[in-house]
Amino acid sequence: MVDYIADYLENIRERKVFPNKKPGFLKKQIPDSAPVEGQTWIEIFEDVETIIMPGVTHWQSPQMHAYFPALNSYPSLLGEMLADAIGSLGFTWASSPACTELEMVVMNWLAKMCGLPDHFLHKTSGQTGGGVIQSTASESTLVCLLAGRTKALKHYRDLYPEETNITNKLVAYCSDQAHSSVEKAALIGLVNIKFVESDDQLSMRGEALQEAITNDRKAGLLPFWVCATLGTTGACAFDNMEEVGRVCEKEKLWLHIDAAYAGSALICPEFRTWLKGIEYADSLSFNPSKWLMVNFECTAMWVKDCVALHETFNVDPLYLQHEYSGLAIDFMHWQIPLSKKFRALKLWFVIRNYGIKGLQKHIRHGVSLAQKMEAFIQSDSRFEIPAKRHLGMVVFRLVGENHITEQLWKQLNSRRNIHLVPASIKGKYVIRFTVTSPRTTLEDIIKDWKEIRTVASDVLGPEESRKPRVPLGGTSCQSDLNDMFEYIRH
Ligand SMILES: *Cc1c(COP(=O)(O)O)cnc(C)c1O
Repeated sequence: MVDYIADYLENIRERKVFPNKKPGFLKKQIPDSAPVEGQTWIEIFEDVETIIMPGVTHWQSPQMHAYFPALNSYPSLLGEMLADAIGSLGFTWASSPACTELEMVVMNWLAKMCGLPDHFLHKTSGQTGGGVIQSTASESTLVCLLAGRTKALKHYRDLYPEETNITNKLVAYCSDQAHSSVEKAALIGLVNIKFVESDDQLSMRGEALQEAITNDRKAGLLPFWVCATLGTTGACAFDNMEEVGRVCEKEKLWLHIDAAYAGSALICPEFRTWLKGIEYADSLSFNPSKWLMVNFECTAMWVKDCVALHETFNVDPLYLQHEYSGLAIDFMHWQIPLSKKFRALKLWFVIRNYGIKGLQKHIRHGVSLAQKMEAFIQSDSRFEIPAKRHLGMVVFRLVGENHITEQLWKQLNSRRNIHLVPASIKGKYVIRFTVTSPRTTLEDIIKDWKEIRTVASDVLGPEESRKPRVPLGGTSCQSDLNDMFEYIRH
């Protein structure tokens, strides 16, 4: 299996990134009921290539440009293997001391690598901050919303002792660009949620948030929690954390930061300008399982004050108590499930094997390839980029009605040479192009652009002019692109 995995990853570019299957394809190839007698490994293994692989979307492929990255790497896979072999559960310190302590250490490493403030670190004494590995960004958002709700219930019950209906009046806020998991957290948490209209840069601003809060207070509602996004899913836009943070401080609201994709880029100092206002945040999470090559699941979440988590999730049956209860961290009080996998191992292996420099190089490589794609798109007047490119993602569309771009997207995916997903940005249908894999090279980007242009010509009819719209010196890209354009034209 280890050899198979290595061959799979080393030769992944030979496979079509997207499978050519219809719903129900797998059922026909597998018996309806489980085998009564055990089967040999050979029999089982044979079915991997014949039954499973033809129906796989190859997320590690250099031609995978859909969604956001969900990368793995050899040190990560080895960490996962070891964690699976050890098979311990780290719900309390005593249930597997190394699991708890390694998680504390690597979460401190990661916080420092990202330039996060000191109050998010685990300290030996007298401090309530710290990091924890959650399964997903969705779960982190929910955990922080529930913690914020606990604090708000206490605050508003003290303030309005006569009021019997506080929960129904609580309001959470996020921008109209926020991920659907924020709305889901509010649904599960049984609180209202309001979507603040983003500005023309797709950014949530302090003034718009303040106006929504003021209106809601006038209407007798009780604002309590805000989620700001660094790197939205639609167009990788950034909320103005400093402005939003000031409002949260003044209004006494919990501020959660969802940086699921963009958070990985914080390991590069040049991308930390987006951290302006981080001192206002009560919690922040991002997914090393997206861009940092730590395989799914691994979401890093930090809180300023874990007391609210404890007050939300604290149950203390006798069978979970141990000699050091209350003295050491028991991560079961920081999360929804009781059990915790030894996920810190794969994060530790990845950080050590690549080093900060190696991980920075990986992030910068992805960003520079997205810049190249941006320059290509800018050079062709049939296309437009309706939102600024940030990090490793460009959104683009064909100039004109939405249905033309939709047709382009459908045809691109059905050819299966590259895989993309669409998004809607303020009513505009766009195609998202994300550089995901560290295996993606400049030659791949050139080929991908050629593919996009070919299909665009199918959709629009032949190009009238092949002249670049913008002189290449005027694009945000280096002049060596001139040579590449020559290459593509021929
Ligand atoms: C990917 C993403 C999520 C969801 O992540 P999960 O870990 O799958 O829950 C949430 N928010 C943003 C901004 C994302 O990019």
